[in-house]
Amino acid sequence: MTARANILVIDDELGIREGCKRALTPQGFSVDTARDGSEGLEKIRGGSFDLALLDVMMPGISGLDLLSLIREHDPGIVCIIITGYATVPLAVNAIKQGAYDFISKPFTVDDLLMTVNQGLERRKLLMETKRLQKIEAEARQLASDKARLEELEKSKAAFIRLVTHELQSPAAAVQSYLQLILDGYVPPEKTREYVEKAAARAREEVTLIGDLLELGRLRELKDRGQIAPIRLDDVLRKALEPLEAQASQKGQRLHVEIAPGVPPVRGVANEFKSLWSNLIGNAIKYTPEGGAVTVSLRTDGQQVIGQVRDTGIGIPPEARDRLFTEFFRAENAKASSLRGTGLGLVIVKQVVETAGGQMWVESEVGRGSTFTFLLPATVEEAAAPAPVVEVVQEPRAKLRIIAKSAMPAFVASLMEHYEVVGPVAKNTQFDFGPITDPRDLRLDYDTTILPPKKYLLPQRETLFTFKTEGQAATPVFDAAPRIIFGVHTCDLHALRLLDAVFATGQRDEHYLRRRAATLIVALECLAPCDSHSFCKSMDTLSAADGFDLHLVDLGDAYAVEVGTPAGEALLARQGAAHPATADDVGRLNKALSEKWTRFPYRLDFDAGELPSLMAMSVKSPLWGELGERCLACAACNLVCPTCYCFDVRDALSLDGATGERIRTWDSCQLDEFAAVATGENFRESRAARQRHRFFRKGKYIPEMHGELGCVGCGRCARACLVKITPVGVWNALYAEHSESAGGGEKGKR
Ligand code: ADP
Repeated sequence: MTARANILVIDDELGIREGCKRALTPQGFSVDTARDGSEGLEKIRGGSFDLALLDVMMPGISGLDLLSLIREHDPGIVCIIITGYATVPLAVNAIKQGAYDFISKPFTVDDLLMTVNQGLERRKLLMETKRLQKIEAEARQLASDKARLEELEKSKAAFIRLVTHELQSPAAAVQSYLQLILDGYVPPEKTREYVEKAAARAREEVTLIGDLLELGRLRELKDRGQIAPIRLDDVLRKALEPLEAQASQKGQRLHVEIAPGVPPVRGVANEFKSLWSNLIGNAIKYTPEGGAVTVSLRTDGQQVIGQVRDTGIGIPPEARDRLFTEFFRAENAKASSLRGTGLGLVIVKQVVETAGGQMWVESEVGRGSTFTFLLPATVEEAAAPAPVVEVVQEPRAKLRIIAKSAMPAFVASLMEHYEVVGPVAKNTQFDFGPITDPRDLRLDYDTTILPPKKYLLPQRETLFTFKTEGQAATPVFDAAPRIIFGVHTCDLHALRLLDAVFATGQRDEHYLRRRAATLIVALECLAPCDSHSFCKSMDTLSAADGFDLHLVDLGDAYAVEVGTPAGEALLARQGAAHPATADDVGRLNKALSEKWTRFPYRLDFDAGELPSLMAMSVKSPLWGELGERCLACAACNLVCPTCYCFDVRDALSLDGATGERIRTWDSCQLDEFAAVATGENFRESRAARQRHRFFRKGKYIPEMHGELGCVGCGRCARACLVKITPVGVWNALYAEHSESAGGGEKGKR
């Protein structure tokens, strides 16, 4: 016969233990006893009891502790406290802590049976309630599973209808073209045309089926190939081969920027190839002829960041939510007569999400789109060998954080070993100047009157001193250790250009020694300086290198990216920086991705077209008009971060025994700049001088150094009293050219 219930009596008094056993056993209960708390607990843990009678006052584990240990083990065991007169308050306390009831010594058999029976009744009820709750929860789960299944069935049916429809249209088109031929409706001279049309639609069908199969594989995580650490730069190079031909057929500029040290990501190489091919293929497809596509790959240390930017048709805001759903194509894409399956982006998103990443798009209709994806970097070594052409460095972006409140102390620590210069207030404007008090450093500046170039190429410098007798010359090098703090990215690009200029051909030791002694702390611009800035058009809105440290304002702190070992050493000097947390990286990514929309493109065309635009504009009437307006004051050249023309003259001492050779800034806008000793002046007219200025920026410098000679800082536009601006001049030339080409339509950017 099975017992009615299993009961454990835990009491240090033998009489109570035995008494309870004698009273309960004849009632059909199975009773076990324990002499103290630890024995009781051991039996509870090893057995299967429905009810425990426990003395509240025992040596060893106290009754209350025992109670909580029993409940911890199995909250379903009913606990009844045995208490003496003096311990009633303790028993009441025990009830508050989950005991069912208490029974006071001395008690009768009837008292005991009544309390035990009630306790067991309560347990039965509790168990029943639990069972019902469980059944209810299961029923709810079943109902929701059923609803989900029905929903899935419905969407599966809808998807199959959609797929069938999508597959049907090209097949039906192929069939009707062929039928027309077979039925003799197509004259022989048109037959080829019809067959070509049929072949094109058949190709579409094959692409569609290929995309569907790929998507199926990705979704079911089937036949995926080897999962391994993959170098996205290698995959990108492979994906680019066929795409380069497509871009060049459309006369587009395909620009690829791969930052050094991008760590591998985990996944399947073919899937990432598909990601790049779809994003870049779309950018080329949805960008008109002559536009530009920029692909970039970089890292922030924790994540690999890929971006594909184009200057194409853009995506209407109402289409963005549905962009990543099967077969969706925006109206402007459909209207453009460019064919597509509407599956490419779904595949891309699936690849990114399978690899644990995320992606998004920013776009402006008529201006272009930027697709960005983030994938978690893996620390494992890439399986593929490192490419030969690129030196793979340590991941550059060892990201640190400096609280804004700690910045003055950090700058002060730098001042102990370096001359620190940076943006300071100058009346109502800002300019780079020496920092003697860290609080003077204004990292919230918009632009500076002069660019930081003046610290590398001073307005006036002595190149060497000499003695006339014996013609002995002593070079003068002034290259004290200096930090230029807070350099905006446009100025950073300008310094990189100057570095190339002064290191090419006859190396300029004066510039280069100063440059070697200079460290640069760059500052990311999160908003344009003012309406004259056109850095976005000139692609100088961000910089992947050229700095020792790079700051991004996160509100209460700066994210600090380390660019060089020297930069690392600066940070180590003071300990103000701490490693970035995942939250900091999130804030940084947000700040960097949100900034792009704040900057307008101001050129009506892609800046990469400038050299050819200039070549076509030699005879433009615009130069004459500019010549009429120009005051030849040279302000444009003097504030320019990339102008580097200089004049050199010798100054003799009064007695003529010694002298110095002095270099000073010069300007191609000044009357005498192109005058030579014979009295000839090669650019006598202001028109010729203006033309020369714009040709240098847009054609000569890019031809010599591979970089445009203008970084879009807008300083010359601000400084010009007669409002001659690069944006105005270049857009006017572009309009002239478009009109003369019969287009009249504005290009992108
Ligand atoms: P499709 O084969 O139609 O290009 P995708 O899934 O690759 O299919 O893209 C879906 C839709 O997203 C496109 O039809 C188009 O409307 C829009 N789209 C994708 N990439 C771009 C882009 N770079 N520029 C403009 N629109 C784009």
